[in-house]
Amino acid sequence: MTSTPAVMLGMELPDVAAWSERVTVALGQNPSVFTGPGTNTYLVGTGSHRILLDPGQGVTSYLPILERALAECGAEGLQEIVLTHGHPDHIGGVAQILERFGPLSVKKFPWPENDAEFDFPITSLADGDVVQTEGATLRGVLTPGHAPDHLCFVLEEEGALFSGDNVLGVGTTVIPSRSGDLGAYMDSLECMLALGPTHIYPAHGPLIEDGPAKLREYLDHRRQRDEQILAALADGPLQVAGIVKVVYAAYPESLHAAAGQSVASHLRKLEREARVVRSGEPDLLVAAWSLP
Ligand SMILES: [Zn+2]
Repeated sequence: MTSTPAVMLGMELPDVAAWSERVTVALGQNPSVFTGPGTNTYLVGTGSHRILLDPGQGVTSYLPILERALAECGAEGLQEIVLTHGHPDHIGGVAQILERFGPLSVKKFPWPENDAEFDFPITSLADGDVVQTEGATLRGVLTPGHAPDHLCFVLEEEGALFSGDNVLGVGTTVIPSRSGDLGAYMDSLECMLALGPTHIYPAHGPLIEDGPAKLREYLDHRRQRDEQILAALADGPLQVAGIVKVVYAAYPESLHAAAGQSVASHLRKLEREARVVRSGEPDLLVAAWSLP
């Protein structure tokens, strides 16, 4: 899931495109303010049966698009399904793929509370596990924060990275207030940067040509937000809504609720780092925040 609706909406990508000799993207047909042009579902490999990385949300009009993508890249079918994480716009499409293509292995890093909602068997992938197909080797890298089960995948043959929702071709990643963790997310961005990817295949939006530059941009953006929040508290305690008014003054009020979620996740991280303290209510949104 993503944010910055004004940017996410209106971007159009082709339904099917070959982004490299071993990576073809089929759009999930689920455009929205949260998913931008829709989820990028990737056919990976060069053989007759490809890995399907993230089958989208479960929109029926996606099935003919996937068929077209298979035909255009010269494949006959699917080898297995691999997931970056268990959010609905990624795992939601699994059931209709199994119905259409028959039993296939579905692999992801476990997230027991979330995975229990689905009635297909899930094979666990751990950090460092490899999934191979003709012409492509995917190595999972545990990168939590946006979601606790989030894996990125190094595409060994290209030195490229499938970033899932951690880095997007458009907009910025949302850190959900309940299951997200901004501190872990920023550590994950550092880990992704250390991999030194050439290019990045994001779960939403266009190909990112310069992976390290985009990762640095994401890290800088988050660090700047930390600083802006600390600066907003320099004149005294504020609730989240008060901080949003200062930090997001240039943004329309319709975005302030989403911005509040983002500020809350920064505050939780800053609190853990002992850079802010909360008083009054324990609730993140109701508490008064101040500098220590
Ligand atoms: Zn997500």
